[in-house]
Amino acid sequence: MQISPNSVASFHYTLTDDQGQVIDSSEGREPLTYLHGGGHIVPGLEKQMAGRVVGDKFNADVTPEEGYGVHHAELMQEVPREAFQGVEDIQPGMQFQGRGPQGEINVTVTRVENDKVFIDGNHPLAGKTLHFAIEVTGVRDASAEELEHGHVHGAGGHHH
Ligand code: ZN
Repeated sequence: MQISPNSVASFHYTLTDDQGQVIDSSEGREPLTYLHGGGHIVPGLEKQMAGRVVGDKFNADVTPEEGYGVHHAELMQEVPREAFQGVEDIQPGMQFQGRGPQGEINVTVTRVENDKVFIDGNHPLAGKTLHFAIEVTGVRDASAEELEHGHVHGAGGHHH
């Protein structure tokens, strides 16, 4: 059975960057399970999952445009420290919810300098080419209820 729209597919993955550094991996965990065609995984990977069958192992390279987006310089901002009231010790790497042009965004503190805080609203993987090593571990038809909800139920999915 091939992965096609409305399949529920499971896969193991290792994600590395251009330098070969591992960014994320399902090793030692349950495989990732998703409803194919629903935009639950990055578009560039979803495209390359189509037509695969259980046992397929392949490498997928995904451009930033089809991954987590290109890097937008305008999402990097400098804000006064008093904007972070109630936070005593602001450190690079801390994440906050902020307001962007399209609603709520997550921002990451990149630098703190005296009374200035530099934040970045880009996804941490924005602008990066993604290199996936994939092993398909399961394919089945989605149930009517899963299709109606738009997500997977049971193992690796929603429990409700
Ligand atoms: Zn549901």
